[in-house]
Amino acid sequence: MMPFYLMAFPVLRGSSEISFEDGFLYPRADMVHHAIDIIGTPGMTIVSPVIGRVVTRCRLGGERRSGAGTSPRGGNYIVVVDLLGNFHYFAHMQAPSPLQPGAVVVAGGRIGLLGDSGIARGNPHLHYQVWGPFTHEGAAQEYASGEFVYRFSNPINPYSELVKWAAILGATHNAGGRYTIPATGAAAAGT
Ligand SMILES: [Zn+2]
Repeated sequence: MMPFYLMAFPVLRGSSEISFEDGFLYPRADMVHHAIDIIGTPGMTIVSPVIGRVVTRCRLGGERRSGAGTSPRGGNYIVVVDLLGNFHYFAHMQAPSPLQPGAVVVAGGRIGLLGDSGIARGNPHLHYQVWGPFTHEGAAQEYASGEFVYRFSNPINPYSELVKWAAILGATHNAGGRYTIPATGAAAAGT
């Protein structure tokens, strides 16, 4: 497997705390959850954890969709392909991403705002999902064009990478593996 690492935490620290736990493989009504839900306050800034670009078109939930758009489940979403060929899906954003399909993204660059669109209504969080590279015949051409025909496969759990960033950002964690990143300005309180 290709190396997998993140160059930024996907939600910028802000005026309220951010938390996550290892929700990869949590059972859901009609599927297994192959993602990490990062809980925060609506309007917090989502940044790309990788260098790459916005996918032009891809298959999401069985439908051919734009790499940046709105779907019934994901709400306002964006899909970024990184330099190693991994796919990064960000869902439930507050508003459509300001980025267009094909746009170049830098690590730490703003890609949207945390929200509760799609099936997250009333439960604001960033649904962050990663899939490994395509290797089928013709994949190189798809990477070149940014148009991906097949459904993403090979899910990757980004939890351990998020934990590294949580430590850098001064997070606390509980015995259940939930990490909480403090609000900016709160970390030094009481010391
Ligand atoms: Zn989720």
